[in-house]
Amino acid sequence: MGLYKNDFSPQPWVRKTFRQLDVALTRLRLGHTRLTVHLHRLHISPDPYCPWCPTVPETIEHFFLECPCFYSHRTVLRTQLLALGVNTFDLPTLLGATGVHPSRQSAVIRLTCAFLKKSGQLPRL
Ligand SMILES: [Zn+2]
Repeated sequence: MGLYKNDFSPQPWVRKTFRQLDVALTRLRLGHTRLTVHLHRLHISPDPYCPWCPTVPETIEHFFLECPCFYSHRTVLRTQLLALGVNTFDLPTLLGATGVHPSRQSAVIRLTCAFLKKSGQLPRL
């Protein structure tokens, strides 16, 4: 958790309305997802590679920031963050709203959740 949030103020992401999404966000923050890098580390997957990018390990960073499979959703997310005045596009910002003014943290997490839902990957996270 310390990777994405460096204080212990009330968390803007506790929603309790969509359990699968809350679980996915928590797993992403802890680094314990069902993405293939983690499954491979646990000897559950034969390789660590992204299902759409056969030579690239499927890390959380790859899923959020690089994978071409989610390019259009990522572009929408980035555009919406810019409209909020959030210019940083990295995992601490997306998963913990780190560095974002408290008045906009909930909106950042809401946009991240929209990305996750649109990606169709919630069962894999
Ligand atoms: Zn990929």
